[in-house]
Amino acid sequence: SDSEDHLFKVILLGEHGVGKSSLARIFGGVEDLQDVEEAGNTYDRSIVVDGEEASLLVFDIWEQDDNHWLHNQCMKMGDAYVIVYSVTDKASFEKASELRIQLRRARQSEDIPIILVGNKSDLVRSREVTVEEGRACAVVFDCKFIETSAALHHNVKDLFEGIVRQIRLRKDSK
Ligand code: GDP
Ligand code: MG
Repeated sequence: SDSEDHLFKVILLGEHGVGKSSLARIFGGVEDLQDVEEAGNTYDRSIVVDGEEASLLVFDIWEQDDNHWLHNQCMKMGDAYVIVYSVTDKASFEKASELRIQLRRARQSEDIPIILVGNKSDLVRSREVTVEEGRACAVVFDCKFIETSAALHHNVKDLFEGIVRQIRLRKDSK
C-alpha cells in the first residue's frame, strides 16, 4: 500500500478561543499546554486505528491571519475538517454553522468528512449550548458530532480516531 494513501490532511476551523490550538497540541503530543499565541502550526503524527496505522497532518492555521487567500486554501486542501465551537459560547456555535455552509459551498459535490466539535465540556456552569443542540446541528449539517474537553483530555483521542474512520469509510465505498 502506498504511504500517500494513508497521509490525511485535517484542517481545524472555528472561532478564536474555542480550543483549536489546545486540541491540536494534545494530538501532537505537546505536553506544555501554555497559552502561547502562535502564528500557526501543523502537527504530523501516526496513530493506530482499528489495528491499522494512519498518518494525520493536522493544520492549526485558520487564524494565522485574516487573509482571504489562506481561508480559501484551507477550504480546498483538507481531506477532513474539524469545526470547533465552545459549548460556553453561543456565538461560536453559530459561527460553526456558517463555516459548515462555507465548506459545503467550497467543496460542492465532494463527500468530505466533517466533525462538529463542542469543546470545553468541562465548563459545566457556563455552558450555553446543550449536547442536544450540538447533536441536532450535526444532523442538519450532515456531519459527525462529538463533545470534547481539551482541559481534561476528554474525548480528544476519540475525535482524531473518528476522523480516520470517517476517511476510511469513504475510501472503502469508492
Ligand atoms: P483557539 O483560539 O481556538 O486556538 O483556542 P485555544 O486552544 O488557544 O484556547 C483558548 C483558551 O481556552 C485557552 O485559554 C485554553 O486554555 C482554553 N481552553 C481550551 N480548551 C479548553 C477546554 O476544553 N476547557 C477549558 N476549561 N478551557 C479550554
Ligand atoms: Mg489557536
